[in-house]
Amino acid sequence: MTAAQQTIHVGGEWRAALSGTTREIIDPVDATPFEVVAEGGVADTDDAVAAARAAFDFGAWPRTPAAERAALLRRVAVLLERDRERIGALESRDAGKTLQEGRVDVDCVRDAFRYFADLVENEGGGGRAVDAGSDEIRSVVVHEPVGVCALITPWNYPLLQASWKIAPALAAGNTFVIKPSEITPLTTVVLVELLLEAGLPLGAANIVTGPGDTVGARLAEHPQVDLVSFTGGLISGTKVARSAADSVKKVALELGGKNPNVVFADACSTPEGFDTAVDQALNAAFIHSGQVCSAGSRLIIEEPLRDRFVAELSRRAELIRLGRGTDAGVECGPLVSAAQLARTEAYVASALAEGAALRAGGGRPAGPGYFFRPTVLDRCHRGMRVVREEVFGPVLTVETFRTEEEAVALANDTEYGLAGAVWTSDEHRARRVAGLLRHGTVWINDFHPYLPQAEWGGFGKSGIGRELGPGGFAEYREAKHIYQNLAPRPVRWFAGTTAKG
Ligand code: NAD
Repeated sequence: MTAAQQTIHVGGEWRAALSGTTREIIDPVDATPFEVVAEGGVADTDDAVAAARAAFDFGAWPRTPAAERAALLRRVAVLLERDRERIGALESRDAGKTLQEGRVDVDCVRDAFRYFADLVENEGGGGRAVDAGSDEIRSVVVHEPVGVCALITPWNYPLLQASWKIAPALAAGNTFVIKPSEITPLTTVVLVELLLEAGLPLGAANIVTGPGDTVGARLAEHPQVDLVSFTGGLISGTKVARSAADSVKKVALELGGKNPNVVFADACSTPEGFDTAVDQALNAAFIHSGQVCSAGSRLIIEEPLRDRFVAELSRRAELIRLGRGTDAGVECGPLVSAAQLARTEAYVASALAEGAALRAGGGRPAGPGYFFRPTVLDRCHRGMRVVREEVFGPVLTVETFRTEEEAVALANDTEYGLAGAVWTSDEHRARRVAGLLRHGTVWINDFHPYLPQAEWGGFGKSGIGRELGPGGFAEYREAKHIYQNLAPRPVRWFAGTTAKG
């Protein structure tokens, strides 16, 4: 980590906030501060944008050949492997993840850098020739970097979400300013250090640590920024879209989800099938204490299976071992902050007041930190806030259905549309239901995996645009059509002419 409090990087220089303000970073396991970072503001943001602008307009990176850009991304991947333990442990402490999750995150970040390196290298230069229907016309579509990218990221997967933006932005030849979540900025600072170590030209990567309503809002509205890519909650996302509107910059939004996990009884007709579906429902809802945009927080289960399934799920939820993510045997860390804990408590209280039946968890364990016990709420329905809104905590609601149509209708009855799953042993049903679900990712007999090669993003209020895959790369580029007339002559659309003869 760079010198304490010098976590702002502008145009090749690490520095403190111009105001001198700092922020303590809290360890959510025991609610104590363990690091101090610079709390940047609008002036720091303007400096960072100016540096990124100069680096884009006059610097080397946008003019670096694709193969060299790819080589740099691959060097970053190697550095991530070298520092896997250090970064994984830092992510674990900052975001309250288990060490194993922190390590997996670093591996996924490495894979994102490798994927975008491959993508940009394999597409070849020269653009796409278009047949204009005439030998006298040469027409080609090329893709160019958008320009200065503002990248705003959340606290639940700080490094992973940063990599899904930084890797394609750099692969395309852009420069950027990143603003990580103010409560989990540490690994993003380290990632910028690795980019510099890998040889990225100064000014191409800039970071401002600081709050959303100043640094983030300024980035979104800044007239010198060409694109804002935001991952976070629905409320902040709509503010970003509004701020960006005046300067008509490109906007990509990756927002929340309220993700259905639909289980048909036929998936559980064997003991192995039952065990797998229960195990994965547990994983879907409670990994990283449910602080996952694609968490399977709505179990939608065929009515006759409900009691047996919920009983086993609740038994296992009670056994999940909470604690510090680096301690042996710990399976789940705390929530990230006091605010997130209070929010989770409020949702559970409202659900119980609205008639939900508590089957597991329901409150905090004894001791310090922001822990909340994995919670299963049975007898839920669409009228309840806890079913409609994103809790972002370890809270699973249970609804039931009797027919396939009812299952699909329930799964689609959300303003979001990020991800969902269907569990069934009937191949035809699996394909039918997958085709009908209005969600950006649909899993059949699985939950949570994603691939860097496949687009990630949401329908409805889960966002605008996509990350990962060729579609995610396209967000960071402008298409330019170059139309060349090889035999120019007058058009004669208008009557008057200056031509002689
Ligand atoms: P958040 O919206 O509170 O903050 C996200 C980021 O936006 C932070 O860096 C924050 O400082 C900044 N921000 C806040 N207000 C802003 C403003 N007015 N202008 C510009 N920036 C602003 O979200 P969070 O609590 O950090 O993260 C949790 C949310 O992120 C959840 O809703 C989750 O579903 C979502 N998320 C979505 C995905 C996805 O891929 N769709 C992935 C991870 C998280």
